Amino acid sequence: ANAFNGNNDAFLARQAEFESNVRSYPRKLPLAIAKAHGVWITDVENKQYLDCLAGAGTLALGHNHPDVLQSIQNVITSGLPLHTLDLTTPLKDQFSESLLSLLPGQGKDYCLQFTGPSGADAVEAALKLAKKATGRSGVISFSGGYHGMTHGALSVTGNLAPKEAVDGMMPEVQFMPYPHQYRCPLGIGGEAGVKALTYYFDNLINDVESGVRKPAAVILEAVQGEGGVNPAPAEWLQRIRKVTQEHGILLILDEVQAGFARTGKFFAFEHAGIEPDIIVMSKAVGGGLPLAVLGIKKQFDVWSPGHHTGTFRGNQLAMATGLTTLKILKEQDIAGKVAAQGEWLKQQLAAMQKRFPVIGHVRGLGMMIGIEIVKPNEAADHMGSFPADGELSALLQKKCFEAGLILERGGRHGAVLRLLPSLLITNDELAIFLDKFEQALIGAGVKPV
Ligand code: PMP
Repeated sequence: ANAFNGNNDAFLARQAEFESNVRSYPRKLPLAIAKAHGVWITDVENKQYLDCLAGAGTLALGHNHPDVLQSIQNVITSGLPLHTLDLTTPLKDQFSESLLSLLPGQGKDYCLQFTGPSGADAVEAALKLAKKATGRSGVISFSGGYHGMTHGALSVTGNLAPKEAVDGMMPEVQFMPYPHQYRCPLGIGGEAGVKALTYYFDNLINDVESGVRKPAAVILEAVQGEGGVNPAPAEWLQRIRKVTQEHGILLILDEVQAGFARTGKFFAFEHAGIEPDIIVMSKAVGGGLPLAVLGIKKQFDVWSPGHHTGTFRGNQLAMATGLTTLKILKEQDIAGKVAAQGEWLKQQLAAMQKRFPVIGHVRGLGMMIGIEIVKPNEAADHMGSFPADGELSALLQKKCFEAGLILERGGRHGAVLRLLPSLLITNDELAIFLDKFEQALIGAGVKPV
């Protein structure tokens, strides 16, 4: 046994010596994990936390689901190699069939491409492929969008903080405003705001004097995650699909966080009934282990062998845990359950908002919920503005942590508290969340009205 067992601080201090300066999570959530099960994490001091982060949405079935663990055991006893260099196995065959069948139209117009193990790696592959497929080089992305930290993925990411880490991004990336229910970037709001943003997009593509050359691709999240939980309105997404199709621009939907039943549909773009040209999948697709896959419309499958490769594509263990996850999501209609639970949770939070006006806005879909925290005098004039700062949300995250609740922040200044729990979370466990969250609000000195 480790001499530090029973002391979070001792582990954290040692880790600070081992690791470079970019450790971010341990600073916000200072615990050393001893074990985890379902929605619960236990630290080395034996304190329990309700995990409403679930690996930033990776653990669709929560921690250590028995069937997921069993699927790892099955790989071990089957004698399958742990590493295959993406060679074929019966497991890969089964996983591919299962995943493809969940894509639009049962996947008949799509093929799969296993990429390196992370979301960023898959985004990278998607951008490269779109450039090759169209013979063009530009990309349109959206403010608040998050696609990963590798060079290309960072270049299409809206957040400027990680860009300070490096000089020079991929050229020809054009950012456009993304719809926002609470802080419409055009300062208009409501349906009129969405319509205006739709015109904005149309004009940028159609106007020969917009200054923007026709891009290879448009990349977006149908529900922005790191950007503060922003669901895209269906009509806006449908219009983007139509315009990109008319111009032969590839539409890349990044489903890394919002995919796999998280928003109450298997993919978040299904809320708008559209079919992307490239679907980027990671996180939950691997059931907790590293896996990333592209779904590619066959007509854009233009690479030849050798155009793109990587050592750690298609990890066997991740396919086993991914296959089990897909099976449970599908057979138990987890999307339907999550959709109803999300609506219930938003109602509960709306009731809490009446008592605690620092809750400026509650939004999201399914088990991807954002709670935007505002200052008392900030709420009245939010359209077209940004959060004043993230001080109170940071304090709330800390108070939640002390109350035994793990959640993450997102959006400008991290003003949005984000909920991404296991999709198997029960209503009783959500009630515990509500209790702990209220405790944290009071602990942060927020007085109910
Ligand atoms: N896209 C989205 C929408 C994400 O949320 C993330 C990770 N938070 C990524 C891409 C990058 O994935 P990874 O961290 O595995 O590179």
